[in-house]
Amino acid sequence: MRAGAVGLVLAALMVSACASSPAPIDHRPSQAILRMPPVDFGPPGDLRNPPQGPFQPNAYLRTCPGMRVSNAPAMDGDRWLIDFKPIIVVYGVILATSPVNDVCLASGYGQRDGRLHAGIDLTSRPPGIVYSGAPGRVIEAKNSSGYGLNVVLDHGHGVYTRYAHLDYFAPGITPGVSIGFGQPVGQMGATGNAQAAHLHYEILTGNIDNPRGAYGLTSHDPFSFPPYEGALQAGY
Ligand SMILES: [Zn+2]
Repeated sequence: MRAGAVGLVLAALMVSACASSPAPIDHRPSQAILRMPPVDFGPPGDLRNPPQGPFQPNAYLRTCPGMRVSNAPAMDGDRWLIDFKPIIVVYGVILATSPVNDVCLASGYGQRDGRLHAGIDLTSRPPGIVYSGAPGRVIEAKNSSGYGLNVVLDHGHGVYTRYAHLDYFAPGITPGVSIGFGQPVGQMGATGNAQAAHLHYEILTGNIDNPRGAYGLTSHDPFSFPPYEGALQAGY
C-alpha cells in the first residue's frame, strides 16, 4: 500500500513551538508525542482554508499527473519516485523532504529553462498548509519579487530551508520566532513568479553572514541526502 504515512516518526520528532524569544535549537528527537497547537486559518469551507490536520506526509511521493515534471528523479510506471526518503539528514539536521501533506512533485531540482531551479515544487489540490521541515528559527518572512511571500528558517549547523509562493503566513511567523518540527509556516499559494499554487521548497547551506544573505547560500537537491535511519527502523 502506497498511502502509508510516517506519523510515528514525525510525532517522535515534533517539538512544541516556542515563544518569540530566541531559544537554542534542539535537534534531539523527542520521544514525547506532542499534538499540534490549534491553528486558526479562518472559517471552514473556504477553498483557500480547507480543514487540515497536523503534518503527516506520505511515506511515498509521486510526480504530478498531466504535467511535464522537469528534473524528476527515477520513478516507476505509476510515477512513484523510486528510493524516496521522506526524512533526510542534512549535515546533522533531521529534515522533512516534502513538508506538505498529500502532495505530488511538480518540478525537481536542477537546470530548468536555462537556469538553476534551486528547489523542488510540491503541489496539492486544494492548496495545503506548509509546515516547517525541522525545528528552527524564522530569519526571513517577507515578500520578494520572484519568491513571493516566503519564509526562511535557520536550523542551525549552517542549514536553512526556504518556503516560497505562500498565500499567507501562518499566525506568529515573523523573524526571530522559534518553530518546532512540522508546525505551520503558511498556506500554499501562487505569490511571486508562480503559474499556480504550489510550494517551492529549498534546502540551503552556508554562512548567512555574507553580503547576499540567504541569497548567498548554496542550494541542494533535497533528494540527494541520506535517509534518517530512525525513519527506516520505523518499518516503512
Ligand atoms: Zn520552484
